[in-house]
Amino acid sequence: MAKPPVARGRFAPSPTGPLHFGSLIAALGSFLEARSRGGEWRVRIEDVDTPRTVRGAADAILRVLERCGLAWDGEVLYQSRRNEAYQAALERLLSLGLTYPCACTRRELAASPHAHDGSPVYPGYCRAGVRHPGRPCAIRLRVDDAPILFRDAIQGDCGQCLASEVGDFVIRRADGWFAYQLAVVVDDADQGITQVVRGSDLLDSTPRQIYLQRLLDLPTPVYAHLPIAVDRYGHKLSKQTGAPPLDEQRCGPALWAALRGLGQPAPLALAHAPVAELIAWALAHWRLSSVPAVLSLRQESPLLNLACLTA
Ligand code: GLU
Repeated sequence: MAKPPVARGRFAPSPTGPLHFGSLIAALGSFLEARSRGGEWRVRIEDVDTPRTVRGAADAILRVLERCGLAWDGEVLYQSRRNEAYQAALERLLSLGLTYPCACTRRELAASPHAHDGSPVYPGYCRAGVRHPGRPCAIRLRVDDAPILFRDAIQGDCGQCLASEVGDFVIRRADGWFAYQLAVVVDDADQGITQVVRGSDLLDSTPRQIYLQRLLDLPTPVYAHLPIAVDRYGHKLSKQTGAPPLDEQRCGPALWAALRGLGQPAPLALAHAPVAELIAWALAHWRLSSVPAVLSLRQESPLLNLACLTA
């Protein structure tokens, strides 16, 4: 008899800097959702955007995960070594006749309406032929106006019309690197990922990923988008907004605060407990249904009590 598919989650950090509290939430949420079901948890380093990759950041991220007691299964996958797989997917899309070269620059698109994630909705200038031949070209994928609907396990029913809300999107960039949207879909499928638990800043990308899965005949995993930690101006905690790296000596309090942010009421008595004890508590008590169904949590929210991180 065939074995039922095992639950398999993943954490897929971009090595653009050290792990900070915001990324710990995604790491912890994806770990607990997979492991509490007896499933596997994989780590993938998303260094497909090689120019933005910071030397040493991947190793530093992996070290902090280990210190936090977040042990992964199998080998770490590096996107920078996966060009052949992305090229094969690109060729499949080319053969479907759904791609075209595009030479538009960011500046030329600046006046177009912008999507929620801040990127311009592509107005289709190069759809009928490259407007400025001779320039380096990106490759875009044509989209249609059929809405993409899905149920997020935390945020509920979601939907997007790619044609009006995103436009034809880039799958290979003009500098030759494969775009995140294509790489993530190929990797999630090749790694057999059944559940994608990540920050809500990627909720807008999910319909593009489902669209790609459908075109490439790949399974669609369950999606669960966690609230992201934001500063008092509503900006995602990130290196760019000055989020401090996690202090490797104080992983316990950071885990404790992350659990509270994820709606898991870790007892105060555990705030300074060893990480193994905290993770054991979290695995025994984890409930995805308790994660707040909101897109973001402010740093000063009582749920996200970060005071203990600096105490
Ligand atoms: N690499 C992305 C990030 O660090 C995450 C991508 C994903 O989880 O799909 O924000």
